[in-house]
Amino acid sequence: PSRTVALVGRPNVGKSRLFNRLCGKRMSIVHDMPGVTRDLISTEVRDDYVLLDTGGIGMEIEMTSKKISVAAEEQVEFAIQAASVILFVVDVREGITTLDEIVAQKLRRYGKHVILVTNKVDLEEHESAADEFVSLGLGEPLLVSAEHGRGITALEAAIDTKL
Ligand code: GDP
Ligand code: MG
Repeated sequence: PSRTVALVGRPNVGKSRLFNRLCGKRMSIVHDMPGVTRDLISTEVRDDYVLLDTGGIGMEIEMTSKKISVAAEEQVEFAIQAASVILFVVDVREGITTLDEIVAQKLRRYGKHVILVTNKVDLEEHESAADEFVSLGLGEPLLVSAEHGRGITALEAAIDTKL
């Protein structure tokens, strides 16, 4: 599938919330606990592209079960291969973590379109904290709040230009 968009990033940054926001349905489970999304979830958005939600890179660090972590890594790998555009989601409140850096390095190697999405920018006062994410080497971050719907129109426009 050429028009496929994948949500990638470490657990708990809000990938599933963003997935639901982009498809306008409550399809993916949003939970305040890392590792809740274990299966690859897929839906068609506006007859336009296929959107994939993943469990998140680095689940092996969060999960105790080795089996689950291996499956999760393979799933993310599959999603990245299948996608023409990757939404790399980070959490503005946490700042850059080691895991974000590992994911960024991995994504830079694929040479695919990557949109760096800084999530949880719920208020204007959170915006300046997003600046540091430029150092991940994936361009300017797009500021969104999946929870409140901030920046979603701009994100949709960015996806359109990369597809
Ligand atoms: P995932 O593991 O990356 O799929 O993350 P989830 O979508 O399950 O969200 C993890 C947690 O972050 C949940 O408690 C969400 O309610 C919360 N969350 C997601 N997006 C936002 C946001 O824009 N703002 C805030 N404040 N919380 C969010
Ligand atoms: Mg999830």
